[in-house]
Amino acid sequence: MASHTASQRYLSTRGGSYGLSFEEVVLKGLASDGGLFIPEEIPSLPANWASAWKDLSFEELAFNIFSLFISPAEIPPVDLKELIKRSYSTFRTPDVTPIVTLDEEKKIHLLELFHGPTFAFKDVALQFLGNLFEYFLVRRNQGKTGRDREHLTVIGATSGDTGSAAIYGLRGKKDVSVFIMHPQGKVSPIQEAQMTTVMDANVHNLAVDGTFDDCQDFVKALFADPIINKTHRLAAVNSINWARILAQITYYFHSYFALIRSPSFVSGATIRFVVPTGNFGDILAGYFAKQMGLPAEKLVIATNANDILHRFWQTGKYEKKPAHGVAASGGAPEDGAQAHEDGVKETLSPAMDILVSSNFERLLWYLAYNVYMSPSSPVSTRRSTAGEHVRNWLAELKTEGGFSVDEKILAAASSDFESERVSDEETLATITSIYSAVSPATSQTSASGTTGKGYILDPHSAIGITASLRSVQRNAPPTTHHISLATAHPAKFSKAVEMALQGQPGFSFGTVLPVEFHGLEDKARRVTVARKSEGWEGVRRIVVAEVEAERAAADKLAAS
Ligand SMILES: *Cc1c(COP(=O)(O)O)cnc(C)c1O
Repeated sequence: MASHTASQRYLSTRGGSYGLSFEEVVLKGLASDGGLFIPEEIPSLPANWASAWKDLSFEELAFNIFSLFISPAEIPPVDLKELIKRSYSTFRTPDVTPIVTLDEEKKIHLLELFHGPTFAFKDVALQFLGNLFEYFLVRRNQGKTGRDREHLTVIGATSGDTGSAAIYGLRGKKDVSVFIMHPQGKVSPIQEAQMTTVMDANVHNLAVDGTFDDCQDFVKALFADPIINKTHRLAAVNSINWARILAQITYYFHSYFALIRSPSFVSGATIRFVVPTGNFGDILAGYFAKQMGLPAEKLVIATNANDILHRFWQTGKYEKKPAHGVAASGGAPEDGAQAHEDGVKETLSPAMDILVSSNFERLLWYLAYNVYMSPSSPVSTRRSTAGEHVRNWLAELKTEGGFSVDEKILAAASSDFESERVSDEETLATITSIYSAVSPATSQTSASGTTGKGYILDPHSAIGITASLRSVQRNAPPTTHHISLATAHPAKFSKAVEMALQGQPGFSFGTVLPVEFHGLEDKARRVTVARKSEGWEGVRRIVVAEVEAERAAADKLAAS
């Protein structure tokens, strides 16, 4: 760690590029060598941060944090402030990400991350990323007209949450088109309505008559296609984009200050963050916060039956398919979750249904950097050695389906993280028990539309709470506070919520539904069907034609 420098640069985790600017890594998304971008140095906090930052608003904290990662020469401070202000003005609460105490006695607090436009935590990052894309494009296009203007074509696939958050982040942005593929009829009705009722000209929904995996294959094929890459500047908004990780760091600090300001907090008490985890993006932001100097004792990874991360922390092996018997040794065997051909299991928390966690590669780089070389070695040697280790591990994952790390790496990983795996059954049981436990601390909030009743958790947030309860019981010092991240609003995952709460006194799903969702499913929709039988080339034809039509209409408007 080094004190922050005025010029922050970025490198690839696989050692193929160094010295990149923030703008380059945001627009590129993935490095040319297949690696992910990380800052060359994790900045440390200014010496007076604890007193100087403690009463700042969410936006002010975001500004201070982002400024440590983005050189002022790249985005002047006035512009950065304006970008942040615009990104979070779309949230329904001035606090942006409030915390709610769920259990006073056990000191469990819920960090509500779902007050953005699509009611999922991904809004915190994607509202900012959309504005960033537009900012960079508009700046590059200064003084240019018509077809001289650079145009960005964002392409993504979704099984639900990412697509709607990306669409709401990018709708109406100048010089940017967004194409989101979803498996036709296979995303939840609310999520499908959220995506397809957005009428901005730059938003293009593609319903693929196949599975989510088919959609992902099409995205990969397009990014690898030299023809479309010649004519279109493609960009991605998936969770590997560095700006998404950066944006998520803010709420770790914001919730920390909210907690220590509260009367129940005794000075010196330890704090754990518990994070429902899929691609490891959300919790990785917590790792950056901790490395910068935020006093978090542990970061607790909470997984569902797709438990590659949990198995890693148990065994030091990162494997797509567990060797026989390993899965059962860490806890209950799978709870009837349906396994796909490739091994992904379908659970009640679909936003966490992953086979591998793409952002884990970033943590691996820092582990190798800190463990394998002495701090006295030249920094360039340390960096290239870390890159080499990451390259080898990822190559083995690709060829062998997994790799092992040695004890020193696992020990380093375990000093910052713990892990818990939670089954569907336990998820439902937690939704039920938290709803039944009416506590005065929660009845004050109407954040999830639950005035006067128990708190209604969505299934992803319930996984975090289950893990928090275990952590309280198992090994946390008695003064420990747990901040558990609530990643979605319960209305988005009605199936699990109804399964857990039907028949409970006072419960009807209507009370969960926010006004923003009323009538959503009856609104006009715009969606193009992409036939699986026509392959990715068929998707390419649609993308090319729709971008052309969109730009022609914009040219016409500019000329008139
Ligand atoms: C995306 C998502 C997650 C997983 O977050 P990662 O950053 O991929 O670990 C958890 N819960 C919900 C509701 C999500 O949409």
